[in-house]
Amino acid sequence: MAEMPRTVAEVAEIIRSRQASAVEIARVAIDRARADRFNAWLTISEEEALAQAKAADERIAHGGAPLLCGVPWACKDIIGTKGVETTAGSRILDGYVPPYSATVVERLDREGAVMIGKTNLDEFAMGSSNENSAFGPVCNPWDDSRVPGGSSGGSAVAVTAGEVVFSLGTDTGGSIRQPAALSGIAGMKPTYGRVSRYGVVAFASSLDQVGPFAATVRDIALVCQALFGQDPNDATTMPLPPEDLLRDLDKGVRGMRLGVPKEYFIKGIEPGVEKAVRDAIRELEAQGARVEEVSLPSTDFALGVYYLIQPAEASANLARYDGVRYGLRVEGADLDDTYKRTRGAGFGAEVKRRMILGTYALSTGYYDAYYVKAQKVRTLIKAEFERVFEKVDALVTPTSPTVAFKIGAKVNDPLSMYLNDVFTLPVNIAGLPGISIPCGLSEGLPVGLQVIAGYWQEATMFRVAAAYERGTEHHRMRPPQRKAA
Ligand code: GLN
Repeated sequence: MAEMPRTVAEVAEIIRSRQASAVEIARVAIDRARADRFNAWLTISEEEALAQAKAADERIAHGGAPLLCGVPWACKDIIGTKGVETTAGSRILDGYVPPYSATVVERLDREGAVMIGKTNLDEFAMGSSNENSAFGPVCNPWDDSRVPGGSSGGSAVAVTAGEVVFSLGTDTGGSIRQPAALSGIAGMKPTYGRVSRYGVVAFASSLDQVGPFAATVRDIALVCQALFGQDPNDATTMPLPPEDLLRDLDKGVRGMRLGVPKEYFIKGIEPGVEKAVRDAIRELEAQGARVEEVSLPSTDFALGVYYLIQPAEASANLARYDGVRYGLRVEGADLDDTYKRTRGAGFGAEVKRRMILGTYALSTGYYDAYYVKAQKVRTLIKAEFERVFEKVDALVTPTSPTVAFKIGAKVNDPLSMYLNDVFTLPVNIAGLPGISIPCGLSEGLPVGLQVIAGYWQEATMFRVAAAYERGTEHHRMRPPQRKAA
């Protein structure tokens, strides 16, 4: 077995029929990760992975093991892993080895899933292209002169390139859905409060959520099933009763009401992207969904709101990197000088840009004009979504206005880089769940369809996404390079 199975069900079948053990599958994943040509990995934790795989084989031999047992996965390097270096893509955390694992990692450990290692990302998850990593950019397996999207680019590529079966990312403004779209796989962000952030390096705490990448909607739902739930260590997680997230996967969309927000088909969206998304909406209509145009008038303000709230929260969260507690320390003449030198040397340009924006927005005199104003508009954006969800079961939109762009094309134009997230970040501002699934190609590159549902309605969102997936072949697309590999 030299190929990585694509789905959780395929792994289970391979193990059940004794074609390979969990240890053998882990070895394939490790070999493939080592041979990765896209700079997707920062750490491959071989020893830990093989120990987990061995334990998984023992559990499977006893019968009744969970579905994810023995399944190889990759972890974005902003999620803390006990005993395995966690850098957040930053020099400032170089060499930092957490003494405990994030709750999401513990939950996957409990299922018997096998973590192969840690994936590359934009520094502190600030970016849309993975070019802001202190450890070099990640490239897109569809065309390695292009970005895979970001900030969870390494996690997206590890799945796209067939190195693991699923991966975890974090999504603050689109960092799971946008790279899923640009890399041609599925990726989802849960309702805020579904998943624990405990042990995840904080970026913008009121927006951050952890979520999975995988090849199919079923696998996304399976991983969510393991991740979701209240955590006593994260007071923002909701105490909801456990639910079967797979229950509606096969129900189809007949009779469902789907909204198409007119503000999501703006000038600047590439014609090939618009066409693929419009075709996808027609497919859902052909399957019996009732599609109607809806309006979210404040969509235009979402980017402005996001680039006030997110840097403000980030500037507070990143104050802890002081050269004393974690990672890098550059000794100075006195303590103040040590802080300055450490932060000067440890943070990259984009992180510094956001610290400056954030501290400005929070400073006396500007706090009311910017930060408080942004919070008010945030409430408006949320209310508009709530109003729309009284009428429709889900929204369908493009995930990103463009396909994967060339490495370097936007690095000197932060505004055009920020615009890449116009369709994803309103979802974080409101705290809603969203998924991106592949819906075809434009100029030979993947396009993503975004499905957004109401609060806690992930099962409904999966129902729509799974219906689309069943009716089309786009989720089977593989990057052309794979044939040669
Ligand atoms: N691209 C957005 C940003 O740069 C979103 C990042 C994210 O979701 N982590 O902030």
